[in-house]
Amino acid sequence: MTDDVASWLLLGTAVLSAIWIGLAIWTLRVAQRHGGGTGRWFLYGMLLGPIGVLLSYRMVRACPSCNAIVLRDVRICPSCNKDVPRLQPGENAEDYLKTYRKTW
Ligand SMILES: [Zn+2]
Repeated sequence: MTDDVASWLLLGTAVLSAIWIGLAIWTLRVAQRHGGGTGRWFLYGMLLGPIGVLLSYRMVRACPSCNAIVLRDVRICPSCNKDVPRLQPGENAEDYLKTYRKTW
């Protein structure tokens, strides 16, 4: 009976790990689509799991030149290759996570 519990625990851990890695890859792909850096966003995904996915969807703004949705820390728009200026204080189109404003 204890063997059963152990194998179920093992299975559960394996499934959770697979889900977690899936979330990290999801984060990475969303971030890449919005012009984000690969390694950093994969790391966010691994560290934050579902929160990483949320961030990759929420930490975005519209490119002033072409209106493409890009991550807030992106300096060059992946869609039109023009410079994306930093958001000015008070200018915050997507205000989901206010605490991130100061650094992003
Ligand atoms: Zn653009």
